[in-house]
Amino acid sequence: MSPELNAALSLCRNLPSPPAIAVRLIELAQDPETDIATAADVIALDMGLSARMMRIANSPLYASRRRIENLGQALTMLGLNATLQLALGFSLSRALEDDARNAQLHEAVWRRGILSALGARYLGLAIGVRRLEELMLAGLLQDIGILALLQVRADSYPAILADATSNDGLLDHERALFDCTHADIGARLVEMWGLPHYLTHAIAHSEPPAEPADPFERCVALSGALAEMWLADDVDAARAHALNLVHTQLGLDSAQFEQVLQQMSQMLPEISALFDIPVPSPARITYLLDHASELMALRNLRELQDASASHRRADDFEAQARRLSEQAHLDALTGVLNRRQLEVVLEQEFTRASAAARPLSVAFIDLDDFKKINDQHGHLVGDQVLQAFASRLQGQLRGTDTVARFGGEEFVVLFPGANEQIAVEVIRRVLQVITQTPMAIVNEAPLYVTFSAGVATHGAYERFSDTRGLLQAADDVLYRSKNLGRNRVIARAPSPVSQPSAC
Ligand code: GH3
Ligand code: MG
Ligand code: MG
Repeated sequence: MSPELNAALSLCRNLPSPPAIAVRLIELAQDPETDIATAADVIALDMGLSARMMRIANSPLYASRRRIENLGQALTMLGLNATLQLALGFSLSRALEDDARNAQLHEAVWRRGILSALGARYLGLAIGVRRLEELMLAGLLQDIGILALLQVRADSYPAILADATSNDGLLDHERALFDCTHADIGARLVEMWGLPHYLTHAIAHSEPPAEPADPFERCVALSGALAEMWLADDVDAARAHALNLVHTQLGLDSAQFEQVLQQMSQMLPEISALFDIPVPSPARITYLLDHASELMALRNLRELQDASASHRRADDFEAQARRLSEQAHLDALTGVLNRRQLEVVLEQEFTRASAAARPLSVAFIDLDDFKKINDQHGHLVGDQVLQAFASRLQGQLRGTDTVARFGGEEFVVLFPGANEQIAVEVIRRVLQVITQTPMAIVNEAPLYVTFSAGVATHGAYERFSDTRGLLQAADDVLYRSKNLGRNRVIARAPSPVSQPSAC
């Protein structure tokens, strides 16, 4: 960067500055003592920001089973880290949009930012980078240097930006004029603002020739190429370019690439509405995405036909099919049944219990305050806890009982042939074991969890017309046990054994 531009950046009074609320959020993000309640107090000061946080908590990005009704619920559902990253993204995007002269250019920058935010998120998801909110924020802000240049070089830069026909062309112009690119300037800006270092690094490495080795930074750098598919005149050329980069740098195949595009496209209307920036999807994109799904279906069919035509030994083939089908039935993280397979088994057990006039009990289990574990120790520890919990739970039950992960930190156990009393006793015993067993060791200290559970039984105290009703009943009781203070197991039937009482 030329010393002259560097000085201009440091001194320029027009330079975009973060609004007061963003400054406060930046401080909170850096303070290890911050908790959700403090973040909520700050966010509640800004009605527009509060409304966006509630809307995003209810959006398909964080699909929750319950409707979020107020800011407190929204932030609790999102967790501290996601709250701070998302709130920063919203407040910064509004801070920089009040330059009426270049309104259209500004809008174009944010349009690319929104697409890049989604691109970075879903590339990260595809390769297993788990910091999804950080990826979105870095994707969103990666072109913030363009906004700074529009202000510090108001004489020349708007025309350069408006005339640029490609991102590469823009970078060439910037290098010739300023001896640096908008990526360098953006990194400098966020550094001056005191934003976290990961953002400075990701933005500094977001444009060529930087080829970041860090997977997080790679996702951010490649997200711009995905955004180009929505912005470039030649969609097919942009697609080919993006696929090539994503394949060579992240190792994704074309099916994974298509999946990333589908995910971006599905979430785009919601996210662009949140930022009040329209992002139209060109007809060619819609065509390519529809076509890609058909092609994938065809390819799967052909692979199946090829497989059956080949002369592999029958037992090899069968073993592979069994393995695949087992994998399809199991939850990838914990190894217990997944939700889809739970529904199949529940249907079977329900029919069997009804026909034989035997009871079928269902326990719905939800770990208490699990979000705090993620917030305090990170998602990897959270995952470890889920694995340990599932394995302990399974270990405490009989082979005829079924354990499944319903989603997140929620598990369901089926007890064929057991009435409420038995099922409640078993789950209370499990609770006792779980509360006394460390689920992880963090910094040499044991980490314990508790859970709340609700039990409902078909065919004893009441009969349900279908499995949905039975599951819903167990879920309702679970929420009673949460409301009563957590760390307890309650049954639905009002018999003496099921009086709501702590374990
Ligand atoms: P409560 O006692 O009311 O149930 O509190 P809670 O924190 O458990 O509440 P909530 O159900 O809202 O939070 C569940 C959290 O679980 C939210 C989500 O971030 C986290 N989570 C969901 N799936 C996973 C996962 O696969 N791994 C990890 N580490 N966390 C997950
Ligand atoms: Mg839950
Ligand atoms: Mg929970």
